[in-house]
Amino acid sequence: MQKLVEIVAGVTDGSLTATAVLEEHLGRIQARESEIHAFNLVTADQARETATKIDADVKAGKKVGALAGVPIALKDNMCTRGIETTCSSKILQGWKPPYDATVVTKLRQAGAVVVGKTNLDEFAMGSSTENSAFGPTKNPLDISRVPGGSSGGSAAAVSAGFAAASLGSDTGGSIRQPAALCGVVGVKPTYGTVSRYGLVAFASSLDQIGPFTSDVRDAATLLEVISGHDPMDSTSIPQAATSLVSVLEHGVKGMRIGRVTDLPEGCEPDVLARLEAAFDALRKAGATIVDVKLPSLQYCLTAYYLIAPAEASSNLARYDGVRYGNRVEAADLNAMYAATREAGFGEEVKRRIMLGTYALSAGYFDAYYGKALKVRRLISDDFARAYKDVDTILTPTSPSTAFKFGSKTDNPLAMYLCDVFTIPTNLAGHPAMSVPFGVGADSMPVGIQVLATTMGEQAMFKVAAELERAS
Ligand code: GLN
Repeated sequence: MQKLVEIVAGVTDGSLTATAVLEEHLGRIQARESEIHAFNLVTADQARETATKIDADVKAGKKVGALAGVPIALKDNMCTRGIETTCSSKILQGWKPPYDATVVTKLRQAGAVVVGKTNLDEFAMGSSTENSAFGPTKNPLDISRVPGGSSGGSAAAVSAGFAAASLGSDTGGSIRQPAALCGVVGVKPTYGTVSRYGLVAFASSLDQIGPFTSDVRDAATLLEVISGHDPMDSTSIPQAATSLVSVLEHGVKGMRIGRVTDLPEGCEPDVLARLEAAFDALRKAGATIVDVKLPSLQYCLTAYYLIAPAEASSNLARYDGVRYGNRVEAADLNAMYAATREAGFGEEVKRRIMLGTYALSAGYFDAYYGKALKVRRLISDDFARAYKDVDTILTPTSPSTAFKFGSKTDNPLAMYLCDVFTIPTNLAGHPAMSVPFGVGADSMPVGIQVLATTMGEQAMFKVAAELERAS
């Protein structure tokens, strides 16, 4: 399958056409989408129009963008003007946003070809896509296993070759964990790097958009395009995009890489073995491995499951049958609200709304939400201490490889534990990415997570590129 950078080079110099590249991807979708279900919607007609226009521009000698002709899939929680955006929820089924998310505008301006909207856990709450109201996505490498979540459709789309790249959102691990489980690269940038304008909000202080690609260079290329200040997002960092492709060949000589000595328990031994192999590879490439302690790591999962639901309970209040999406008629206004939300939301979304409402209620605010914010501060302090000694930190992305359908659905806590290594970075606002690094005992891919401090993307990409070379 072609890399994003090869497609751009070929389409730009005329040795490839955007149309031919698109048809190849649509062919793979045609062949396998019915078994994988990566998409809620395939936008083949619009994609063909875009590809035709790009080819015409190239022929006419016009300058084309940095993603010319690249087939890209979008998680179905990013607004696309006039194109259904559902968050894999019945409450938004059929909703067509009146505007494009900033990332979508940037992709279109760069010449990307949007091939469709990908499946997710409803409102991005979950780790397997089993919470989608429209049925789960299958892992293209073994369809008896989950692709991870919540951006499972975006990860599967790249893994199956349905798109050269895709975008996901990551609130507690939803880009990195599915990337790890599907054997692709997934990046959660520093909070504020990529505009959230037009991303349907889950937990606003944690949500970030980022890329899925089949290799590190493609991820760097795509992230450079979607990053940068956006006045439409008040949390957007007023700074130009960081140059990433330029550092990929720098190597890791002299870099200091953190090994966490108090990693939370519960990681599979085959995954831990890959982590050790990653440290060995970096050591061989000239890096120094340094022990670091992150004592508050063990409290992060608990803090996240108070903070994220608290924010979600507020963000999801807007789905009331009046302003957005679907309505179930009832005798009076309150009954209409209740009937709409009862019918529109799935079980996990309701669980989060109730958890969050409880955590924010007057009598419990200090004990739960307030306490969770204190843990959030502690983990930031832990990281700040660690990053005095190291440039990046390495952990597994996920405690296990892709698991079987149904194996965690009866136990929300077991599902939540999938994100034990990814959540701390969201709480701190830091960047982190998952790079495929070999396979586990079941021959399924293992992802290694590279973490860095705020705006530390260059160091993170240097290490990721080295791991990719070593694997
Ligand atoms: N799996 C985590 C959750 O269910 C993270 C989700 C995400 O990052 N959107 O909340």
